[in-house]
Amino acid sequence: KKLQEMEELGSCSEKESLGESRILVFVRLRPMAKKEKEAGSRSCVKIVNRRDLYLTEFANENDYLRLKRLRGRHFTFDASFPDTTNQQEVYSTTTAELVEAVLQGRNGSVFCYGATGAGKTYTMLGTVENPGVMVLAIKDLFTKIRQRSCDGNHTVHLSYIEVYNETVRDLLSPGRPLVLREDKQGIVAAGLTQYRAYSTDEVMALLQRGNQNRTTEPTRVNETSSRSHAILQVTVEYRARDGATNVVNRVGKLSLIDLAGSERALATDQRTLRSLEGANINRSLLALSSCINALVEGKKHIPYRNSKLTQLLKDSLGGACNTVMIANISPSNLSFGETQNTLHWADRAKEIRTKVAEANEEIIKAPESESDQAKLLLELQKEN
Ligand code: ADP
Ligand code: MG
Repeated sequence: KKLQEMEELGSCSEKESLGESRILVFVRLRPMAKKEKEAGSRSCVKIVNRRDLYLTEFANENDYLRLKRLRGRHFTFDASFPDTTNQQEVYSTTTAELVEAVLQGRNGSVFCYGATGAGKTYTMLGTVENPGVMVLAIKDLFTKIRQRSCDGNHTVHLSYIEVYNETVRDLLSPGRPLVLREDKQGIVAAGLTQYRAYSTDEVMALLQRGNQNRTTEPTRVNETSSRSHAILQVTVEYRARDGATNVVNRVGKLSLIDLAGSERALATDQRTLRSLEGANINRSLLALSSCINALVEGKKHIPYRNSKLTQLLKDSLGGACNTVMIANISPSNLSFGETQNTLHWADRAKEIRTKVAEANEEIIKAPESESDQAKLLLELQKEN
């Protein structure tokens, strides 16, 4: 009964005021790792229904049965995924709607954050057998496009970027660092590869190769640096005839972000943030914390310019955009502190309000002269 009560109380569906929407926040618990088991760790996280989560020192089943309730801190999220949740369920619950919205010309972004080893890359990229959100999103996108292909043309472009130590690199075509420039569409990375994707099959291999291009620490060459952020941007452009001669042009962008390890760098108050600034801590992650704090507090000025990551994500964070956060956590009591920190931050992220995503759509009026009309027609036919 108590649980039922909590389920009702724990509802996140507060009324949304006009023109504002809420960030959706999910938590994913990964299975206990072999290493953690061998180190004798106990589970300190218990998910009791689809959204309520307890972080507790007494999380094992016997204690739960004996106490009939859980001691510890209670959190509630839009969904809390237990360690049995598969990749498809995570994708469907967190990201499927954003893919639909991108097809309507609305921007969206999905962030994975959490400590190193908590399951961010597994959730985003996954493995060949168990592809993650990035791959499932593109697969779903192509399925949806095929279903509507009769009414116009869709083109899909992918770019895959790394931000490491305030340097932006192209993961699809590694080389010199990229320079960020501001143009009328916002901040763009000059010279970034826009890979035109035609099918799902090529994408997993492409992303895996890209992921191998992520920076590694000299001492641990086989492991991606815990300070590396990876951003996959999927741009979907739609063009169709509208009436006899007009053209509809719609562009939606989905950003899927595998953030650097959040250990030591997730601060929820300004004082802690400031004390961390001097230390050798991931600047982009700190800047992301600052932007989120400013957004939560409803500040006018959001310090996007403080880092490369926040510049790149400006239109995916506070702007008119659907935003989803997935916090990844380990069940082990050996990671209690990190898990607590991640959950605290996730809890705070629920407070962020963003503007409702609007469609990026323009109707191109038919040109006056007949020769220009013919040119436009030809262009459209070529795209088909
Ligand atoms: P991060 O990117 O946050 O540092 P990883 O995604 O690399 O962490 O996960 C660490 C390890 O745990 C990897 O070996 C990964 O395959 C495994 N892992 C993470 N999440 C899951 C999960 N939900 N199910 C099975 N294995 C997982
Ligand atoms: Mg990783």
